[in-house]
Amino acid sequence: MSVPMVTFPDKIRRFQHFIDGAWTAGHSANAKIRKSPAHDRDATEILQGTAADVDLAVKAARTAFDDNRWSGLPSATRGKLLRRVADLIRRDLEDLALLETLEAGKPISQSRGEIAGAADIWDYAGGMAQALRGDSHNNLGDGLLGIVLREPIGVVGVITPWNYPFFILAERLPFILASGCTAIIKPSEMTSATTLRIAELATEAGIPAGVVNVVSGVGSVVGQAIVDHPLIDMLSFTGSTNIGRSTMIAAAQHIKKVSLELGGKNPQVVFADADLDAAADGLVYGMLANAGQTCVSGSRFIVHRDVAQDLQTRLLAKMAKVRMGDTLDPTVHMGPIINKAQHSKINGYLDAARAEGATLHMAGAGAATGLYVNPALFTNTRPDMQINREEVFGPVASMLTFDTTEQAIALANDTEYGLSAGIWSADLNSTLRAVRGIRAGRVWVNTFMAGGPEMPIGGFRQSGSGRESGIYGVEEYTEIKSVHIDMGARTPWIA
Ligand code: NAD
Repeated sequence: MSVPMVTFPDKIRRFQHFIDGAWTAGHSANAKIRKSPAHDRDATEILQGTAADVDLAVKAARTAFDDNRWSGLPSATRGKLLRRVADLIRRDLEDLALLETLEAGKPISQSRGEIAGAADIWDYAGGMAQALRGDSHNNLGDGLLGIVLREPIGVVGVITPWNYPFFILAERLPFILASGCTAIIKPSEMTSATTLRIAELATEAGIPAGVVNVVSGVGSVVGQAIVDHPLIDMLSFTGSTNIGRSTMIAAAQHIKKVSLELGGKNPQVVFADADLDAAADGLVYGMLANAGQTCVSGSRFIVHRDVAQDLQTRLLAKMAKVRMGDTLDPTVHMGPIINKAQHSKINGYLDAARAEGATLHMAGAGAATGLYVNPALFTNTRPDMQINREEVFGPVASMLTFDTTEQAIALANDTEYGLSAGIWSADLNSTLRAVRGIRAGRVWVNTFMAGGPEMPIGGFRQSGSGRESGIYGVEEYTEIKSVHIDMGARTPWIA
């Protein structure tokens, strides 16, 4: 049975900011049209916010935090409301998936998967609201009892990228809310619609006004105003390492806590004893999902010399079967690149790698037109080539070979980043040595990009700091207070 195409909507969707429980026109009528990168047709119209809009939203979040309308609720109630949001996401799955596909340019089947996955995270975080707890120390001597309280940190500013707008927000916002915090969110200017809709759904679910606020607009205005705002207690930034760095520097002004999830140049290590067919499939998936525009994309293939040629043949055979095309076609694997600037940047990397002497193998069914780029694999590369050092953020990978496990680990770690890694092997010893040796926040063994909300995510080195998701993700948004209680008669300091 053939799966039906989704039709491009007749009308453009227009969005305002969502502040203090309501759609708000804001201080500027300036709006930008977002065209679908796959169709070059108008999809959404998004308001371009100002620092005054941010101020309004931060004050709403501040009041909602300070009057305890959210953190003062029993965790069971907060958990129930988060799970209600999950139900509303499922109710609106088709609409949210369509918005995501139109703005982000990802195939509709992927968008549907992400929205459904995000709903599951909201469900999980509902439980985390009740799981969050402090600690006690009953060993401080007869006269003293110690209690460690976890308290919500306060107002959290959340800045997100364009590549997985709804899913990345789901890895943060419900945990922020589970901890009792309130939030002001700035989505990427290219993919704002689903973030604005989640604020609306949170209100429909019964989450009080002011707890979830969204201001749309560009990073240099709205993002910067969030980073600089003195009434925000913590920043959760997800995006490029360069902007993350400047965010951290600016946040130092008010000693705001900062959680950063940044870029990667992630290795996939294939040992000689690996199941090569499974490895080839996992490597192609990790390289091409979302057209390689994924922070955890596996873009450096580090392969044992004895199997490099065999694996290359299998990789190219898989890549040749990748279907590129209309993102509204549920059978399409790969959509276009997010915008012209990113498209030219990727082509620049392809030219530079060829100029440095790497061999390019291009594949993929469907000629690359418009903003599409065919899957590209480079062989004959050296570790010092740009293609092995910089995050391309496109459907591009490079191959390096190794002879010993030590070499494989050294090559995997030969990067300033440390976000994710894949290991493909049937041998327990080499697998565990690589698991221990590779410095990355997420390591997958004989799989790639698997997981669930139970598992923490985050990066080593220049891939970020802090952890999202799981119990760690809720704790990240709390302050710790040590309470010392004297239980006996006081020994006088001054007799
Ligand atoms: P980006 O850094 O350009 O933008 C991220 C966000 O920051 C956007 O909302 C943008 O508007 C905002 N921003 C821009 N300038 C700002 C400023 N001066 N102050 C405050 N905010 C500002 O990143 P992008 O192009 O949207 O996303 C791609 C990057 O994100 C890649 O490097 C990718 O690896 C990374 N990423 C990381 C993760 C992760 O979990 N580690 C997840 C997704 C994407």
